[in-house]
Amino acid sequence: MRTGIVGSGMVGSTAAYAMLMSGTAGEIILIDKDRDRAEAEADDLRHATPFAHPKVIRAGDYEDLKDAGVVILAAGVGQKPGESRLDLLKRNQAVFEGIIPKVIANAREAVLLVATNPVDIITHMTAKIAGRYGFPSTRVIGSGTTLDTARFRSLLGTYLDVDARHVHAYVVGEHGDSEVLTWSTVTVAGTPLERYCSLQGIIFDEDIRSEIDTGVRNAAYTIIEGKGATYYGLGAILTRLVDIIAHEHRSVLTVCTPTGEVEGIADVTISLPFLIDGTGVARRLPLELSEQEHAALTESTAVIKEALQSIGYD
Ligand code: ADP
Repeated sequence: MRTGIVGSGMVGSTAAYAMLMSGTAGEIILIDKDRDRAEAEADDLRHATPFAHPKVIRAGDYEDLKDAGVVILAAGVGQKPGESRLDLLKRNQAVFEGIIPKVIANAREAVLLVATNPVDIITHMTAKIAGRYGFPSTRVIGSGTTLDTARFRSLLGTYLDVDARHVHAYVVGEHGDSEVLTWSTVTVAGTPLERYCSLQGIIFDEDIRSEIDTGVRNAAYTIIEGKGATYYGLGAILTRLVDIIAHEHRSVLTVCTPTGEVEGIADVTISLPFLIDGTGVARRLPLELSEQEHAALTESTAVIKEALQSIGYD
């Protein structure tokens, strides 16, 4: 399957590298407004193919997206010193309003994977712009809180000393400060968390809970403080999403996609567990929350709605 990547910066090129090393995607096309950057990344990546998989990887233009099954959207501008989140959002709005029509014109059948932050807002915007050309919103998926969910599961797995793949836990809501860790839904090998801990003689008190909660929420801040940006985790998630779509895995991930109504708030894009198949988002899955988690999700949804209103995309 041909996969396009628009925005060959850290996230875009890391996703390309992860796809190359894992053998995901047939042909990878790198596009960037800085063509030299895309060419350089493609050259560098191509030199890994003798040690990985024999993939075609090249820099290209929007016309090269013809017949692409997936297009990853990782383009964006960085925050200038002193710039507000809203001003940054407006500059990335201009980037996406320029990019999307060109992507749609060339890759009408593709699934669009949005990685640019603030990802919930940019995904909503992408779906609205694409919708003007009759493009279905079920084919617009943002990475959402997939990374936060992965961090939640891995921290729980580490503490409980069990493979995180047997820990089921979700982070929903905004991919940001108001995100909601759905503690009440956590199960370990089919057993609710508290029961699992009491059966196994594991201490699980408020301090442990709060340490994990803070660890999930602060992960990105800590990484950015140490190295300026995060991209390996996201690159891996984008690769997984391409694999799910290419091979119709019907997997459940907390991506974000335009959702009719969440917690009484209409027309918003927010992360929840969604079933993903070869065509994009197949459906939203139910998640039974506690009263407190419902209240937190309502608040998080309102944060996103307000941001959408501030840029005229409500
Ligand atoms: P990140 O860490 O999110 O990947 P980067 O700044 O490393 O951020 O990468 C963003 C990339 O997006 C840059 O290579 C930049 O040139 C590219 N980009 C910015 N605006 C556009 C645009 N309008 N069209 C295509 N690519 C763009």
